[in-house]
Amino acid sequence: MIIAPLGSGSAGNAYYFESDGTSILVDAGFGPRETRKRLELVGRQIELLKGIVVTHEHYDHIRGAERIARAYGIPIYLTKGTLDNSTIDRDETRIVVFQNNSTFAIGDLNIHARRTMHDAADPACFVIEARDGTRVGLASDLGFTDDCVVRHLRDCDGLFFEANHDLDMLRMGTYPWSIKRRIMSRFGHLSNDDAMFAVQRMIGAELKTLCLIHLSEKNNHESIVHDLANRLLQRNGVQLELGIAKQFQPTGMFEIKRRGAPRRAMMPSGAQMALF
Ligand SMILES: [Zn+2]
Ligand SMILES: [Zn+2]
Repeated sequence: MIIAPLGSGSAGNAYYFESDGTSILVDAGFGPRETRKRLELVGRQIELLKGIVVTHEHYDHIRGAERIARAYGIPIYLTKGTLDNSTIDRDETRIVVFQNNSTFAIGDLNIHARRTMHDAADPACFVIEARDGTRVGLASDLGFTDDCVVRHLRDCDGLFFEANHDLDMLRMGTYPWSIKRRIMSRFGHLSNDDAMFAVQRMIGAELKTLCLIHLSEKNNHESIVHDLANRLLQRNGVQLELGIAKQFQPTGMFEIKRRGAPRRAMMPSGAQMALF
């Protein structure tokens, strides 16, 4: 599977996934022109996308979804809570509603959705599974990593996981106290320490790539996250590819492949989807 974070953070999020000829975006936080440009930077074409899967309705994740979907005639996959709290015109846009804690398919990709804790209506994180059993997890915008999410994201071959802020930088920073409190709450964002603690619980024998995502521009720094992650990997005696997703440009291409025999594929539960 190929994964290209096109941009990550509160100014916009989009992650490109591709396997066996199926390519999708998870989140579409940039407009059509910017999304097209960033895809071209990683050698991919926006016309070939088969769908846009949305984690939640916050602007930095959904801003470009409707315009891209309409311009290229592709469906948007989202929970009913996300749809109801968005401005997406459901008569003019192809919409597929999925339920959290279920599995759906787009082409050759199976997508396992799990509810997360965040101040959105029905936010989701995903494990995206290719035909050969390669599994890549993506979770951002979590206030707290509950046991269900940890179990969901364990045993992945690749993990894209939020490390939003350095707690001291946030506390000392210029944000109003109400916003600081929101970010630090169980429905806000993960601090670096919380993220490392969660990642530690999710590191499995299969994990080959770890990429930290959705870093705060004001309250975090790539070098802090890099040091923390390196220390975590050393402590656990793990060697793997480490990435930190950038906000204003794509963060290259990650090629992630499962070692050994394919796992027994988890079947999509299509009955739980509603078509609009
Ligand atoms: Zn966000
Ligand atoms: Zn959010």
